[in-house]
Amino acid sequence: MADTAAVVFDFDRTLIDGDSDNWVVTEMGLTQLFRELYSTMPWTSLMNRMMVELHTQGKAAEDIEECLKRMPLHPRVIESIRAAHRNGCDLRIISDANRFFIETILKHHGLLDCFTEIVTNPAFVDAEGRLNIVPFHDSADSPHGCSLCPPNMCKGLVLKRIQAADSEIRNRRYIYLGDGKGDYCPCLKLGTRDFVVPRKSFPLWKLIFNDQTLIKAVIHEWSDGEELAAILLDIIDRILMDENTRTGLTASPDDGCKTTPVSNP
Ligand SMILES: [Mg+2]
Ligand SMILES: [Zn+2]
Repeated sequence: MADTAAVVFDFDRTLIDGDSDNWVVTEMGLTQLFRELYSTMPWTSLMNRMMVELHTQGKAAEDIEECLKRMPLHPRVIESIRAAHRNGCDLRIISDANRFFIETILKHHGLLDCFTEIVTNPAFVDAEGRLNIVPFHDSADSPHGCSLCPPNMCKGLVLKRIQAADSEIRNRRYIYLGDGKGDYCPCLKLGTRDFVVPRKSFPLWKLIFNDQTLIKAVIHEWSDGEELAAILLDIIDRILMDENTRTGLTASPDDGCKTTPVSNP
């Protein structure tokens, strides 16, 4: 099983049910300022501006951490990530949120070590203790040139880079889970042996079913964390069975993701 399956998650409204940026804005009382500035600057700059505001109000990075730790994460999703990792899947995140938010949430739930890579907008706490969020692509200096994606990140380019780096791994198959417009570009880069798992009725799902012929990968839709987790583990099981058929092995109970319900703390 090792090396065969790579799972690529979007973060907001996929790995977590809600949106981490909106959560911090709402929970930390920034809704009004956010609304005032919303139309005046790109999303990542706006989130950085929100961090300036929190710093001005005397809020520390630790206060933002505490706020993020309260964000709900579906227990089944936690279990499915642990099971996928235990079974040798390569897990990655490609997200337009930021490193500080994502790592804080994953660390809090004991999941950070399950991921090989998190590709997102960089974030760091400076000498004054203020959290800075900067765009992944500097659109002014080096535009990524993809018309489907927002200026700061083309997730399709990121996936292509991962696929190229994986080219030595035989029979690698990708499972891409997402919800947003920005997840459409990478889904176009998946092949017939791959899987795309869009959240039902969300923008990615609408784009996919607008013209399904453009997607080569097998499509499985989901609505909530419970369904997401079940579909993910089913696909991994199917990949495992295909792999065993290909190599002439029979599936043993120790190999599959379906094996045991996860009882990790
Ligand atoms: Mg999303
Ligand atoms: Zn793109």
